[in-house]
Amino acid sequence: MSHGSGGKTTHDLIKNIFYKYFKNIYLMQGNDSTVLPKISGRLAVTTDSFVINPIFFNGGDIGKLSVCGTVNDIAMSGARPLYITAGFIIEEGFKISNLERIVKSMAQTAEEAGVIIVTGDTKVVERGAADGIYINTTGVGEVKDGLSIGGAMAKPGDKIIINGSIGDHGVAILSQRNGMEFETDLQSDCAPLNKLISDVLEVSENVRVLRDPTRGGLATTLNEIAAQSGCGMVISHEKLPQKQEVKGLCEALGLDPLYMANEGKVIVIVSEEDSQKVLEAMKKSPNGVDSQIIGEVVSDERNVVYLETGIGGKRIINVPAGELLPRIC
Ligand code: MG
Repeated sequence: MSHGSGGKTTHDLIKNIFYKYFKNIYLMQGNDSTVLPKISGRLAVTTDSFVINPIFFNGGDIGKLSVCGTVNDIAMSGARPLYITAGFIIEEGFKISNLERIVKSMAQTAEEAGVIIVTGDTKVVERGAADGIYINTTGVGEVKDGLSIGGAMAKPGDKIIINGSIGDHGVAILSQRNGMEFETDLQSDCAPLNKLISDVLEVSENVRVLRDPTRGGLATTLNEIAAQSGCGMVISHEKLPQKQEVKGLCEALGLDPLYMANEGKVIVIVSEEDSQKVLEAMKKSPNGVDSQIIGEVVSDERNVVYLETGIGGKRIINVPAGELLPRIC
């Protein structure tokens, strides 16, 4: 408890763990707030709290996830992520060695994404008042002039592209939960996507929508965009990139990969004429090798999302009605 009291042990924790890995000129200002340089463009801001269980999983951990999640949400506005903040709520008795592993992972991910952790906070709560560790990150990015990207911009005829297989994160987490340990090497797709996005924006001025299909998966995200834009969507089941393990585990558990969370995927909606060059740019990125055009935006008054099945049928993909998997991010 003394690590969160603000006294000497708190200062030791900050020095020995947080400053050790996060050290930079902004964080080291050491004042109540950090003063950052002027930037010229519009600002994009986002915040997210991470409560995932388990905190260490195949393909990542809560620290990596907390940086990727926020960097990606900033990038989805077409913005260049610049700074992030990190707030920790830690349960009394949480191992310092695990905290260090998480902080190190955040520092590595921030470096990979090219963002700077500029301020932070630590609180410790009594045993039982939290489950191990929770992290909140807020991100700030800069939006270039003239860029206008968002769910309402999709137009009939636009192509829908995804940068790889769906459901990896949700299924990887589920398979590693206590009491549910399946034999699988499946990894979460958790990754920062800002470089892939900037490559996409480099080759096309006709990108309408960028969105990461996190909680609720591809199905939920497409429905959100359909409602925002007042259009419908048609996607093809055959074209959907899916891993065999994800298909298999979903079948065994009665789940649908279309609704499973992703943490390293982006849906790019772009004009038809630019779709091939955007696809090529995405495929060149390490996080987009399996990119695929999966469907298109259509005019539909009811804003329905359809899935074309292999046998020539069409089914409606609804927003999920019941409860989704808890603590997946
Ligand atoms: Mg998002």
